[in-house]
Amino acid sequence: GRGLLRDKVVMVTGASSGIGAAAGRVFAAEGAAVVLVARREERLRELADEIAAAGGRALAATGDVTREADVERAVAEAVSRFGRLDGAFNNAGYTVAGGLLHETDPEVFEQIMAVNVRGVWNCMRHQIPAMLDSGRPAAIVNTSSVAGVLAAGVSSVYVAAKHAVLGLTRAAASEYGQRGVRVNALVVGSTRTELMDEVLEDTPSLEESFVGRSVQKRMAAPEEIAHSAAWLCSDRASFVTGAAMPVDGGWT
Ligand code: NDP
Repeated sequence: GRGLLRDKVVMVTGASSGIGAAAGRVFAAEGAAVVLVARREERLRELADEIAAAGGRALAATGDVTREADVERAVAEAVSRFGRLDGAFNNAGYTVAGGLLHETDPEVFEQIMAVNVRGVWNCMRHQIPAMLDSGRPAAIVNTSSVAGVLAAGVSSVYVAAKHAVLGLTRAAASEYGQRGVRVNALVVGSTRTELMDEVLEDTPSLEESFVGRSVQKRMAAPEEIAHSAAWLCSDRASFVTGAAMPVDGGWT
């Protein structure tokens, strides 16, 4: 095989849409066997078929990252189909538009924390043992956000959740640093995806401020985030761990 991720088996969560779907395509084009995880089975199958038709290797592993049994099964499917797990892009995420903290429904707190925080923790908890078993260098990339570093004008719960993703990333990087598992996070800026469309539909005025905060005065295409994730997953990033890498078009 050839490419940045040749001979790698990489799980991608949130692969049915946006950044995760772009990552499925990009990682496969870089030579990885990709294990696609999300709840919408039909979309995952279409993407897996598209990747296979382009000569890549892909497995649709339908599941909800908030459910431990689903995550455990996806890791087991990766190992049984492709022999091991070398990498993971824990990217599944969810938010609502802003809204003041005191006006936010407690149920929204539970939902946002479940997907963004418990989901990443669940995934790492089951991916890491498989990675340690492989005896090969392994890498995890978690999707944080500019909201993981500052308030960014979105829901307080999302801000807290994406800060937590950086905490989980640093803790795991520290715990597994001597065991061959690197763990990094992407600090993603505004990106054109369904999640962004939903936020802007709810609060159209955010578009101008999101675009304006990038020094490039635009949003990212999902592929631009996916290429950074591919590099962090690859052995080219062998001395990079515990990092929070901005991919934000220069956020000011
Ligand atoms: P999309 O809404 O396009 O994609 C989100 C993905 O997450 C979908 O594939 C969805 O699939 C999946 N997902 C949601 N909940 C679950 C769940 N419980 N279990 C499994 N999969 C789930 O959004 P983006 O591509 O924009 O988001 C990707 C990541 O990037 C998120 O972590 C987001 O917070 C982050 N981000 C996005 C930014 C942006 O501007 N777009 C900026 C900064 C960070 P399904 O519904 O099929 O389960």
